[in-house]
Parts: sequence; C-alpha cells; structure tokens
Amino acid sequence: MEKQSTNFILKGGRLIDPASGRDGFFDIRVYNGIVDKIEPNIVAEGAIVIDVKDHIVTPGLIDVHLHLMKGLGAFGVDPDIFGVGSGVTTVVDAGSAGHSLLTVFHNYVTQNARTRVLNYINLSTLGGVAGPGFGILADPRLIDEEKIEQAVDAHRDIVVGIKIMATGGALVGQGLKPLVRARKLGDQLKLPLLVHIGESWSKNAEPVHVGEVLRYLRPGDIVTHMFTVHPGGLLDGNGRLWPQVREAKASGVLMDVGHGLHNLNFDVARKVLDQGLHPDGVSTDGHRGNRSGPVYDLPTTMAKLMALGFSLTQVVEMATANAARLLGRNGQLGTLRIGALADLSVLRVREHEWQAVDSQKGTIPAHQAIVPVYAVRGTTLYEPIPTERP
Ligand SMILES: [Zn+2]
Repeated sequence: MEKQSTNFILKGGRLIDPASGRDGFFDIRVYNGIVDKIEPNIVAEGAIVIDVKDHIVTPGLIDVHLHLMKGLGAFGVDPDIFGVGSGVTTVVDAGSAGHSLLTVFHNYVTQNARTRVLNYINLSTLGGVAGPGFGILADPRLIDEEKIEQAVDAHRDIVVGIKIMATGGALVGQGLKPLVRARKLGDQLKLPLLVHIGESWSKNAEPVHVGEVLRYLRPGDIVTHMFTVHPGGLLDGNGRLWPQVREAKASGVLMDVGHGLHNLNFDVARKVLDQGLHPDGVSTDGHRGNRSGPVYDLPTTMAKLMALGFSLTQVVEMATANAARLLGRNGQLGTLRIGALADLSVLRVREHEWQAVDSQKGTIPAHQAIVPVYAVRGTTLYEPIPTERP
C-alpha cells in the first residue's frame, strides 16, 4: 500500500539520526518530495499531518546484504519485499550479478524497484547463476578483470564494491589466488571488497582460515557473516577471536552481520561481542528462502541485536550512518538533510516478550520488537507488506 502526498508533516515522533547527532521530538515537513523543515512543533499550514506519535523516525534504513535478482535461482527476491515493503529505503545486492549480468541487474532490478537498489558485483562471472554451493572461482577464467572494469564503469551509480566468496567451496584448488586478484582490482577500481566468510554452503570443503583472508583486506573492506558458526569464522577452537581479527578491525576493516539462513549464531555472537568486537553493519542476507523465518526483515534483525545487548540508538546507527559509510555514501544516505530528497523510515518499538531465533534455531529472550510503519521516498509513503513477524 502506498500513499502520495506533495506536502506532508510527520508529526510527533522521536527522530533518531545518529549521523547528525539528532535524537528528540522533531516534526519533519516534506514538500514536493524534499525535506524542508526538521523542527519541533511545525504548524501544518495546509500540509497533510501524518501522526507518528509514539513512533521512531529515522533516516531511511539501509540493508547492506541481500540477494535481489528475482527469478535467479532459488534465492532471488523482489527488492521491494525486504525494501520499502519492510520499512527499508535502500537495499544492496551481494553478488547475484557478475559482470555479464550487471546491465540486466541495473535495467530490470534497480530500475523497476521502488526501493533504492545498489550492488556488489561478483568477482566471478557466474555470480549467483549456479547457486551458492558451487566452485564459482575454481577456474581462473571465471575472473575477467577487463570485463568487470567495463561493467563497473558503465554502472558506477549502483556499484558499491566487489563481492568475493572466501570459502573452500568456492575457491576449490585455487587457494587465495582469486583474493589476490580481487585485491588488485579493488585498488584499481577504488572499490571495497565484500568478503563472505564461513563454509555455510560447502561443509565438506577444506575451510579457508579467516586470518589468511584478512591479510588481503584493507580499511573499508567488509567481512560479512561475522557471527557464523561454520568453519572459517572469527573464533578459534577455544572460542577466542583470532588475533588477526582484532588487528584487522583496529586497522579499519569493517564487520557485517549477514544474518541469512546459516550465519547468525547467538552463541558465537555473544562470544564475539564479549571480546569487544562490535558489528559495523547490520544486514539480513535476505532472500526468498529466509523471508518467512528465521530472518523476516531488517527491523527484526535489528531487534535481535537489541536482544544481544545493543541499544535502539546503536542499531539505528548501524542501519543508517554506519551502513552509509560502509557503502561509501557517507552524508548522502543514512542521514536527514534539509533540501535533500525525503528518505525516511518510521518504526514502532513494541514492548513485547518474544524468543529471538538464530540460524541454528538457538533462542534468546527479547523484550522489544521493531515493527516497520512507513518507508518514505520523495512524495511516496509505503506501508509495509503484511507479514508474520515474531
Ligand atoms: Zn548472502
């Protein structure tokens, strides 16, 4: 469901915009799709008043890791389901498209969505064509730097980085040679690497050690699936962080949750968090196979992090300011600015006792749920798609 309005005020909500330092009761006026006032108690003056009392208003939420080529394999999902249909205004595909599918992605996914859809181009030409369990980097010919460069140059507006599967299952016999090539390419194209860790799709493969992977990463690169329980994760056999993980984090390598079907484990999360390593980004790793559980949507994933001990402000910061920084869109996304196109989320934080469920069906008690109410883009307010949430 969507409503159009050229002149409206979101009235009475608590605005949390960590990038600007705003946290308090501000009304927001959107005129012709542009944010033109952020002040307490704005007088209506002909504007339609949308009552958001008892709600939280944030810069448009950003989900930095999903699989959004609907129709591609078993996983591709329509971006508006996890996007504006879930109170989220920006979604980012993690590697569905290699270079040869990038134009298709741009023309048929990004252009047709109501949600802003960005993209991590897959290092492998195969991208998500074969499915996640295949050796998509096992043949050196499946990396074509020249074609990747051409595709990226044609679509700089949507490409935010290069996705690589750093797993034994994807690399089969290539060792870390594909990572060396990804590193070079990332430097050359000035794009960060988004690196999948954890043998979630290839349990019989010889796992790749995260410490080896991190040797090739630089500040601004992103490790996704930081709470994976599968071999190749952040913890050693005694549940301690590998020392290389601390060093990498301290040097500016970023860490993303990437919940997904397999990779949010509460026991691992507790151990990682207890040792002082916090996520930079929160993401669903959303796809067709996890929408109706265990993932649901980004607000629910944020609520799971609250159940792990983070505050509402912290999880909002992860999904706005931090996510924008992670995408290299600092200041453009993830914050409210007078004069910018309206890009907002409205959420309800419901006091509610529930059991948060992880990817291995582990549970922890949660006391608050986050329910999307609106996603706002320009002159349009989108109501979430009705769905069962925990
Ligand atoms: Zn993924």
